[in-house]
Amino acid sequence: MRLNLSLKLSLLAALTATSTWVAAQQPVLNLYSARHYQTDEALYENFTRATGIRINRIDGDDNGILSRLRSEGAASPADVVLLVDAARLWRAEQDGLFQPVNSEVLKQRIPATLRSADTGQGSAWYGLSTRARVIVYDKARVPAADVETYEALAAARNKGRVCTRSGSHPYNVSLFGSMRVRLGAEKTEAWLKGVVDNMARAPKGGDTDQIKAVAAGECAVALSNSYYVARLMRSSNPADRAVMEKVGVIFPDQKGAGTHVNIAGGAVARHAPHREAAVKFLEYLASDDAQRYFAEGNNEWPVVASVRTQNPALQAMGEFRMEAVPVSAIGAQQAEIQRMLDRVGYR
Ligand code: FE
Repeated sequence: MRLNLSLKLSLLAALTATSTWVAAQQPVLNLYSARHYQTDEALYENFTRATGIRINRIDGDDNGILSRLRSEGAASPADVVLLVDAARLWRAEQDGLFQPVNSEVLKQRIPATLRSADTGQGSAWYGLSTRARVIVYDKARVPAADVETYEALAAARNKGRVCTRSGSHPYNVSLFGSMRVRLGAEKTEAWLKGVVDNMARAPKGGDTDQIKAVAAGECAVALSNSYYVARLMRSSNPADRAVMEKVGVIFPDQKGAGTHVNIAGGAVARHAPHREAAVKFLEYLASDDAQRYFAEGNNEWPVVASVRTQNPALQAMGEFRMEAVPVSAIGAQQAEIQRMLDRVGYR
């Protein structure tokens, strides 16, 4: 993956350097994307059809894209960067990899809680789809009432039941950052300690592995992003659907602060050679049609409140109330959260 990305990027750099005359003929946009879904193809083609701007897409994982941006510095051909998780977007903003965008369209369509704080020159990154961090549990062993809140993961009744991926993974760091905003430092650290004490096994694997471990009886309660749940529900593999028959899914904290929601988002790169096209592309991604494609590609929800998708798995999971904590405030907690994780031994 890494090598593949480097090769593609070198190729792109070479093309950018040697094709000034081509650039003069057709406007282009260089997109560094951590998304790779089939529906995205149609999304990009529609943009090119509407604007005449051709998209050079470079796929990679989040870390590969970020380290590439850092090493390319001012010579980077990147215009738009698409990443998942507010913690990563916030870190990239702090590292000076983005530039603020002042767009009325983006401000009007994307709620302030789902983009970075407006510095006066606009936000540095914008949420484009949302995902919820849900609790998954073994319906045969655990009553739903035992796991209705994130705080319940640390409750004595859930001793020996809990499985999660690594505490330091951005999805968990963001959830824990939200808890830090809600509960304060002392209570959050005590809660994290309680979660560690309740673990059925040491953290390992990704979110899907936790869901499967619950179905297999190795754990009884786990955390997962909503789209992994939806993916298993919609899988053509009967074994995946059998997994989902054994597990229940809870949107935590419906009676309290609401379920923690994270984003996949986009930003204009600090040294974007095609800034105007880059802003146009972000605005396009906030349009009704693009929002539908964008969210559908990964079984997520649109950020634009009026846009509705027809996703059977998401419809089966139902409506829920999301937290009010801004995603930018969550990103800002990550250094402190990491210190807490080290102290309580949450690997
Ligand atoms: Fe993911």
